[in-house]
Amino acid sequence: MTRGISDPNVLQAMAEVPRHLFVDTAQQASAYGDHPLPIGGDQTISQPLVVAAMTQVLQLTGSEKVLEIGTGSGYQAAILSRLCEKVYTVERINSLLAGARKLFDKLHYYNILARLDDGTMGWQEYAPYDAIIVTAGGPEIPGPLIDQLADPGRMVIPVGDREVQELHYVQKMDGEVIIDKLESVRFVSLIGEHGWNG
Ligand code: SAH
Repeated sequence: MTRGISDPNVLQAMAEVPRHLFVDTAQQASAYGDHPLPIGGDQTISQPLVVAAMTQVLQLTGSEKVLEIGTGSGYQAAILSRLCEKVYTVERINSLLAGARKLFDKLHYYNILARLDDGTMGWQEYAPYDAIIVTAGGPEIPGPLIDQLADPGRMVIPVGDREVQELHYVQKMDGEVIIDKLESVRFVSLIGEHGWNG
């Protein structure tokens, strides 16, 4: 993955979605800097370049069903919603989920469905997904996410230890799973059955 964002659709979505609405009022002045910001519950909204780069890797064309694990502020889901048919997003912290849902309504992003659950189990009901994006870092790629990925399908997920991870690009093709490692990243912990323990 290169740091340059060249997909015009991704750039347009980044320009369209009002990032300042997804951060606390106190942080709004810094919402457009290229850095992560706190969103409550010890969680962070990823820096814009990481959001754009992970989105670009998924090569969305507008017709996809996309699963996101780690709704957080809802910002990444909002970006995805401009670029695919439907976004399914799972968050384990209720207050964050509630805040994100409010924003989706306010901004009329009606093609996002959000659910409170352990996202390491995926979201079986609507599987398979053409693309999956995980925005928290875990020790391994959760098995249910590989199972719920369509064939062909692609997933981007940070895997590593608690402090630093490597972005993994997972492709399912003709029944095979191919994994490429991209760059080093720092995400908050993916907590759950197939993630860290609390
Ligand atoms: N995509 C978010 C990033 C939020 S940080 C945004 O754009 O703001 C990562 C989020 O993953 C946190 O909100 C955290 O609570 C959530 N998370 C961690 N483990 C999870 C799990 N097993 N299932 C669902 N969400 C999880």
